[in-house]
Amino acid sequence: MIPLVDLKAQYATIKTEIDQAIEEILVNTSFVGGPRLEQFERNFAAYCEAGECVGVANGTDALALIFRALSIGPGDEIITTTHTFAATVGAIMMCGATPVLVDIEPQTMLLCPDAVERAITPKTRAIVPVHLYGQPCDMDRLGELARAHSLPLIEDAAQAHGARWQGRRVGSLGTAAAFSFYPGKNLGAYGDGGAVVSDDSELMKRIRQLANHGRRTKYEHDVPGVNSRLDALQAAVLDIKLAHLDSWSQARRQHAAYYAKQLSGLEMTLPRVSPGAESVWHLFVVRTPRRDELARYLERAGVATGMHYPVPNHLQTAFANLGYQRGDLPHSEGAAESLLSLPLYPELTNSQRELIVSRIRDFFA
Ligand SMILES: *Cc1c(COP(=O)(O)O)cnc(C)c1O
Repeated sequence: MIPLVDLKAQYATIKTEIDQAIEEILVNTSFVGGPRLEQFERNFAAYCEAGECVGVANGTDALALIFRALSIGPGDEIITTTHTFAATVGAIMMCGATPVLVDIEPQTMLLCPDAVERAITPKTRAIVPVHLYGQPCDMDRLGELARAHSLPLIEDAAQAHGARWQGRRVGSLGTAAAFSFYPGKNLGAYGDGGAVVSDDSELMKRIRQLANHGRRTKYEHDVPGVNSRLDALQAAVLDIKLAHLDSWSQARRQHAAYYAKQLSGLEMTLPRVSPGAESVWHLFVVRTPRRDELARYLERAGVATGMHYPVPNHLQTAFANLGYQRGDLPHSEGAAESLLSLPLYPELTNSQRELIVSRIRDFFA
């Protein structure tokens, strides 16, 4: 079976470095905080072309901590796309604010700036573009909107480590950005992890404090905080992997280009990258009305696929209290019914990708 993501293949390429770093931490017993975390935070901020990085427990907390540090809470509205992982919406609810879910641009499946503009009210406190599948949103249009309405732009960059918009890395394009290091993400830990990245040092100070029990000093707590820290083992793993990330993204780009070439002309909509965007191809998502049939066919042919995501958030039971109905956000609903993610990871071999392409061609023939 060709998997959707192959974390074993990746570990095999970095085993010596990783095992040595982990053993060092086990011997030093410096598990929370410490030099490995500080080093990773410096390196990741530099990688994102941003001023600072604060490691946190996961990507969901990264978003929720940004909202809390901006004093966004009950009665406030945050606008984002319905077509995202449920965590984007969950994080908005964690701070007590109301998610305002809007539709996507049908071509890219990314947050539609016109829909954002229509959704702005006097209660709006932030806009959250999600760089879904590794592709940055139109940050020029969204930046203009945010400036015109004096709203912070909070990037959900959980799927887009290293992607660029007009030559600039995601993470440096708004007020602050949230990253996830869930194992399957482009930069993945060996457990949960996340980070906030920003140029605003006052904001980052508040986030660091909120994420560490609201501490000012060891024994003095200024605000009711939470425990959301990136541990040293994860930081060490991430720091090693960060040095490989650009070459891994390059490999993803080559696989995506191969798929795009070999799968053109079939009864399938291929991913579309907008001018100005440089995707890091977290996922390769095709669309076809015969999605379920194709997924079953590939499963039998030894090719795993995924769906990101088959139920848009405005139709999830968890968010039913927001009051949306089927038909409210038609582009997202159409995408959810037809999308399919193909295997895409740096270590995918030429023979694997040839097999995947030929099975898909067989299906449409
Ligand atoms: C993974 C993900 C998150 C949440 O990150 P976790 O580390 O799993 O909490 C948020 N938004 C998007 C778009 C994601 O893909």
